[in-house]
Amino acid sequence: MYSSLKPLIQKELEQIEQAGLHKAERVLSSKQGREIRTNGERVLNFCSNNYLGLAGSDQMIQAAKEALDNYGFGLSSVRFICGTQTIHKDLEKKTAEFVGKEDVILYSSCMAANMGFFASLLGEEDVILSDALNHASIIDGIRLCKAQKFIFRHMDMADLEKGMQDHKDKRVRCIVTDGVFSMDGDIAPLKEICDLAETYDALVVVDDSHATGFMGENGRGTHEHCGVRDRVDVITSTYGKALGGASGGFVAGPKELISLLRERSRTYLFSNSLPPVVAAASLFAIEYIQQHPELRAQIWENTKYFREKMQQNGFTVPTSVHPIVPVMLGDAKKTQQMAKRMLQEGIYVIGFSFPVVPEGKARIRVQISSSHTKEDVNKAVNAFVNISKEIS
Ligand SMILES: *Cc1c(COP(=O)(O)O)cnc(C)c1O
Repeated sequence: MYSSLKPLIQKELEQIEQAGLHKAERVLSSKQGREIRTNGERVLNFCSNNYLGLAGSDQMIQAAKEALDNYGFGLSSVRFICGTQTIHKDLEKKTAEFVGKEDVILYSSCMAANMGFFASLLGEEDVILSDALNHASIIDGIRLCKAQKFIFRHMDMADLEKGMQDHKDKRVRCIVTDGVFSMDGDIAPLKEICDLAETYDALVVVDDSHATGFMGENGRGTHEHCGVRDRVDVITSTYGKALGGASGGFVAGPKELISLLRERSRTYLFSNSLPPVVAAASLFAIEYIQQHPELRAQIWENTKYFREKMQQNGFTVPTSVHPIVPVMLGDAKKTQQMAKRMLQEGIYVIGFSFPVVPEGKARIRVQISSSHTKEDVNKAVNAFVNISKEIS
């Protein structure tokens, strides 16, 4: 009977509401893009992970339409029964080549990839060393695994080294980190991590969801950006951000490791295969990115311009190079008010406050896309300047 659970749920919903933690979903009546329609208004979008502007683009739509005709809508099967088409194998091969690993296994999301990774490979004899600010999907993936865990302070290499020393006796030491952290846009010190991994013989796993497609000279990811392309052992990432933005995730790594995931990984084995439209269009996205380096040039130029302009206007923007740009305001109320006014002025940005970020570190997180024009960026900067005067 639902009657015993209902009041508990109602109480919890009220608490969420009262704490100001309710996540209202904004409804779009348009495609994803630099400009979106919401509540009947057209606004510039500065809060999507559509880093290269592919998500709503004509090219992606065309690629997806063709795939629909060639491969159908769905497979009604998991991969190992009758759910593997040529397009899945092609996408795995292309992705492996792109990120520079031997093999790739597809999942329905990066969340599913991370949930299915650790328990398939590691056990009680092993230890996982995980950055304190790692994504929820890594945290939950680790929870499903019997390995011991050591949470090191965010990007603190001394703390990581201590963990490695404490766990010298373990069969496998596995370091896992986000390549780019989504709240601050800070980039994991992969060179230092790989150095420690070498000293203490550890596996390095990087979740590169906020980097695959545009970080590094060829857009391969944070490992390329940090100059450790061959030293990161395993990469997990998503097709749901820069690579077209629909859904799907993957694990890339040594061929035996990927082979074992195909045998053991529960979120792979017991879940439907990636829709062929998504697989084919994601493959197209990678090819498109490789043929259009100007998209990458544009996102870096836009990001640099926005960061500089904001700093010139006296805003606090932590030092990084990533298109995730947190504008630090400190005060939670001011942040919410600011985000609301920005939207009224046609700039869609999101405010984050405690407990999503530490207390007193409320911010508006801006995400730059290569699809933004210089004029768009100027509009956003001007809105920040004018509205912050108005509400200070
Ligand atoms: C977005 C994100 C995910 C989740 O990716 P999905 O494919 O949407 O499940 C996982 N890890 C990190 C670091 C992310 O930023």
